[in-house]
Amino acid sequence: MNSTKTTLPVKEKFILPEGMIYLDGNSLGPLPKGAAARVHTMMTDEWGAHLIKGWNVDEWMAQPMRVGNLVGQLIGAPDGSVTMGDTLSIKVYQALSAALKMRPDRRVILSDSGNFPSDLYMAQGLIQQLGQGYELRIVAPEDVVDAMDDTVAVAMITQVDYRSGRLHDMAQVTQAAHAAGAVMLWDLAHTAGALPVDVSASNCEFAVGCTYKYLNGGPGAPAFIYARADVAADMQPALAGWLGHDAPFAFELDYRPAPGIERMRVGTPPVLQLAALEEAMTVWEGVDMADLRAASIRLSDLFIAGVERACPELTLVSPRDGAMRGSQVSFAFENGYAAMQALIARDVIGDFRAPNIMRFGFTPLYIDEGDVERAVEILSEVMKNRLWDQSQYQRKSAVT
Ligand SMILES: *Cc1c(COP(=O)(O)O)cnc(C)c1O
Repeated sequence: MNSTKTTLPVKEKFILPEGMIYLDGNSLGPLPKGAAARVHTMMTDEWGAHLIKGWNVDEWMAQPMRVGNLVGQLIGAPDGSVTMGDTLSIKVYQALSAALKMRPDRRVILSDSGNFPSDLYMAQGLIQQLGQGYELRIVAPEDVVDAMDDTVAVAMITQVDYRSGRLHDMAQVTQAAHAAGAVMLWDLAHTAGALPVDVSASNCEFAVGCTYKYLNGGPGAPAFIYARADVAADMQPALAGWLGHDAPFAFELDYRPAPGIERMRVGTPPVLQLAALEEAMTVWEGVDMADLRAASIRLSDLFIAGVERACPELTLVSPRDGAMRGSQVSFAFENGYAAMQALIARDVIGDFRAPNIMRFGFTPLYIDEGDVERAVEILSEVMKNRLWDQSQYQRKSAVT
């Protein structure tokens, strides 16, 4: 983000429990060192000391746009084109409904079977609400480009597959959508903070994502939404909340949207979560995204080679070519849930996605080659000793 380049990793910027190898930053990023103090100060010196005055003197009301600009710098979005709030599912709903309004004579939402279920569920809920013959068309990820036709109102695609890590080519898919006359909506949940991305250059109309994964904003951190400037200027918000109004404190009886992306704000911003996230965004200072990407591929390749050497029972389900992958590596194994529990018990933290996927995220901000080698070693012990066969690892928790 600034001119002095940082050498990776930057482990010292995070609180990481001693001895833990954390390969789950794709699901929940670790605690950035300054975040707890920032939230504490916010609570005592702002909320505690100023109470309601904080909205003005501490500029809480400007926070969603201020933090939006920081996220914008990581995703190639100009200042003033990103705002923060709610959860990603809500932002998907907002972007999708605004996109459909832009193509009133079309009825198809195109997505793929690798998309995260919540995105598909939000589309299904919206369709139920709209009636009028709307349809969600789900194709295989490799068929997305060919499926673009003149019935498609909006292509709603998540760039990195949460299970396999397979990566969509943003430029190619966006061009195909536009060539078919469709609106392009990207979900960057597993992209933002993981790989270089430039929403402006892609020319997509909308992009959304969450900030508790690679952006380390903490559990429940607010989502982001971007709209291209020309689109933001006249999109119609489905959730017409008061803070997306042009003049919230005029308390008019009728909704009038704020001028640009701010109309995608809904209600009161999550001030404490935004304070944590704002601090978390400082870890990116000096980080070169091309360096980060190169390190991510190097670490992932090292892991794949090690696991394939030591654990023949596991089958790679991620693309072998690093350029075709996000920042995670997944292996299929029929006892994957129990094997992951055994691994977690040994302080190597990944996660499990049904039916049989063991998922490992590689975030070069705090993972290095020594961590990868150690993780391979411990995983090979789990496999060699059939630790997954032990009953204590087979009990299912609510969150996998
Ligand atoms: C993580 C993720 C979500 C989660 O949505 P929330 O509303 O933040 O719980 C949604 N979509 C995708 C693609 C994700 O990866």
